[in-house]
Amino acid sequence: MSLLDPDSRTTRAAAVARSFAKRHGVPPQVVGVAPGRVNLIGEHTDYNAGLCLPVALPHATFAAVRPTGDQTLRISSAQQVEPWVGSLDDLGPGAGGGSGSWAAYVAGVVWALGQAGLGAPGLDIHVDSTVPLGAGLSSSAALECAVAVAVTSVLGVELDTVTRQRLVVACVRAETEVARAPTGGMDQTVAMLAQPGTALLIDFREDCTQAVPLHLGESGHALLVTDTRVSHALTDGSYGNRRAECRAAAQALGVPTLRQATLADVEALADPVLRARARHVVTEIDRVQQAVAALEAGDWTRVGTLMDASHRSMRDDFEISCTELDLAVAAAVRAGARGARMTGGGFGGSSVALVPRDRLAAVTASIDAAFTDAGYAVASHLLAVPSGGAGLEHPAPG
Ligand code: ADP
Ligand code: MG
Repeated sequence: MSLLDPDSRTTRAAAVARSFAKRHGVPPQVVGVAPGRVNLIGEHTDYNAGLCLPVALPHATFAAVRPTGDQTLRISSAQQVEPWVGSLDDLGPGAGGGSGSWAAYVAGVVWALGQAGLGAPGLDIHVDSTVPLGAGLSSSAALECAVAVAVTSVLGVELDTVTRQRLVVACVRAETEVARAPTGGMDQTVAMLAQPGTALLIDFREDCTQAVPLHLGESGHALLVTDTRVSHALTDGSYGNRRAECRAAAQALGVPTLRQATLADVEALADPVLRARARHVVTEIDRVQQAVAALEAGDWTRVGTLMDASHRSMRDDFEISCTELDLAVAAAVRAGARGARMTGGGFGGSSVALVPRDRLAAVTASIDAAFTDAGYAVASHLLAVPSGGAGLEHPAPG
């Protein structure tokens, strides 16, 4: 069984700092780090004022940063061939600021921080990541949040809870307004606010979060994430289309968001597509509440059952799964997972399975065999060890 295992944050931050020094001839002033995430349950609920329960990964993105002394912004990434160079004056939504390129996620953060009263000087920024890109594990928010905490440090602003909440807002603006991926706020919230050993219950109506202890190790469980390697593109319209359908369903029901709708309301909707979409959202919000209660009671069988139900809801009602994800989920459950579901925005990406530790090898083997039999590309697996949120590293020079 081969698992994608990240280095420790400190080791990786030191490596990124060395790459920065090689590229720019001076060490960075600071390295910001922010985790990817896997969502345990609660998909496409964030933009419906609902609930979700993501877990921060040990896999993270690192942003080494140093002021340039002028208005220039130079952005490079170990995951991209082309660096991006521009001026602070060109940033923002629209044609400039790296729009249409990966650099929009970085330049967008610098712009959004400026809009929030955290205007930065020109910067050299070099990033590296252990989060798989475009796998539904939130490499985009990890990138935004790593840059945001590093810039905040350059500005001398303390990274307290209030600042973290401001950074969440700025990173969401960067993603939706500059990179133009119309996602909700789950990814940035968990990247900024996660605590080790816990999942983060996020309530988008009340605008509050609560750490939910996971006790995975003590109870003999692991969260296995499988990247199907089916690429998704959140900017291609499918995601935005689901958002629009949810808005239309809420409008037809006469409620501000689907959080205010009941299942009985939804079942009375005339349009079968809107009915199915809204049914997913309403039942999924309920499943998040039930999953939190089951975790608090240590009822892992129930957590697994809820994950299975969530997958069926995404497959049949919200229609955001694909055959590879359905196969990974079925193969995991067949080999002894307590439950499994696709995770993230959908249309490809990753699945997550709740697995008794003694079944881990059997479950990964089952998924691999199913993929081989179907002629699919080899999937990669990683363990979601519940990790902490964004922070700073100050690597020693050398
Ligand atoms: P996910 O967030 O699930 O990984 P997204 O489609 O939301 O998928 O974001 C992936 C995009 O974010 C990449 O295509 C790239 O543009 C950008 N990105 C993420 N991480 C990095 C990185 N380390 N370096 C450069 N670009 C990155
Ligand atoms: Mg993303």
